[in-house]
Amino acid sequence: MHEPTRCVLTPQVDETGYRALGPAVHRASTIVFPDAAAYAGRGARGPDGYSYGLAGTPTTRALEAKLAGLAGAARCLLVPSGQAANALAAMALLQAGDHVLITDTAYPAMRALAVEDMARAGIAAEFYDPLSPEDLRRRLRPETRLVWCESPGSTTMEVQDLPAIVRVAREAGALTGCDNTWATALALKPLALGVDIVTEALTKYAGGHSDVLMGAITFADEALALRVRGYLGRMGIGVSPDDAALVLRGTETMALRFAHSAAGARRLVARLQAHPAVARVLWPPLPDAPGHAAWARDFTGAAGLFGVVFRPGAAARIGPALDRMRTIAIGASWGGTRSLAAPMSLAGARSVRPWQGEDLVLRISVGLEDIRDLEADIDRLLDTLAG
Ligand SMILES: *Cc1c(COP(=O)(O)O)cnc(C)c1O
Repeated sequence: MHEPTRCVLTPQVDETGYRALGPAVHRASTIVFPDAAAYAGRGARGPDGYSYGLAGTPTTRALEAKLAGLAGAARCLLVPSGQAANALAAMALLQAGDHVLITDTAYPAMRALAVEDMARAGIAAEFYDPLSPEDLRRRLRPETRLVWCESPGSTTMEVQDLPAIVRVAREAGALTGCDNTWATALALKPLALGVDIVTEALTKYAGGHSDVLMGAITFADEALALRVRGYLGRMGIGVSPDDAALVLRGTETMALRFAHSAAGARRLVARLQAHPAVARVLWPPLPDAPGHAAWARDFTGAAGLFGVVFRPGAAARIGPALDRMRTIAIGASWGGTRSLAAPMSLAGARSVRPWQGEDLVLRISVGLEDIRDLEADIDRLLDTLAG
């Protein structure tokens, strides 16, 4: 063998006796075949065979298998972000002339997708009241194909009655989809409640370290999953094995981080509720949370992400109040090791259930720092807001 060839080829080493706990990162665009016949017959390898890197390597398949197991799913598909999971699941299954009903509390990019891109594709998108399966029923049409849920809703945290919504949608012959990012499969398994398609931003708790973007789509039905998988291939969607390895690492500690985050949230929520500058805390475990009964019935836990509504007047001082915090960072993509605060505006984000409070909800995500440092930050924030 000549030297340039030696440079190009990598020797196969003996892997006998090698076993590591960390999953290997298998990077590949091309998959090579042992002989011409195997290459010619690659189409027969099926969805779980390997034929091209875009459709997965053992690293991405390992993550899909882990997430499918957690969700109780027939299949999990990985996509480059949480919003990609929402958008691609919906667009794969809808066509011109279809009608889709989307919860009024959907993630903002999902609302924008409905207004911009679904409309452009000839898909009629309409919003419905997240808390009223009756409102949903009234809006159904013969051509309704999909009912999209997000529970609890973005920012305002309304918990939906998923079993009732599934019943209404099924009677109309529509599929149901649900963005399960807040709860993750640890605290809610929508597939077990009859939901057909579940999405999750792995960017949040599964990745868990604020350094990777990824989304998952899980399905109870294999045939439905393969329809979406075909669409992903045609759209050229896949994820990097390096990113999948980061998420695999994140999932190892996810249950501990999730529980710790909820315990910290409980402490901070109580502290906030006791302060006169706070009008209301939005967190599904609280008895006055919209849809709390559904949360108590269907969920087995809570994320450490909640919203704070302040008394009139306090909101005007939110900038200086946030700037006094020392541990809690200001930022949006929650679910990581660092606690975060993000002031959210609801102007323009609701069309069916107008938001009745102040147009500022401070969203707080509790991370892994010592709770005393977070409490000190919350006290500094509240002191400044109280003036
Ligand atoms: C963050 C988030 C998304 C989007 O996830 P990305 O990975 O940032 O695209 C979707 N839905 C919900 C509920 C989210 O919180």
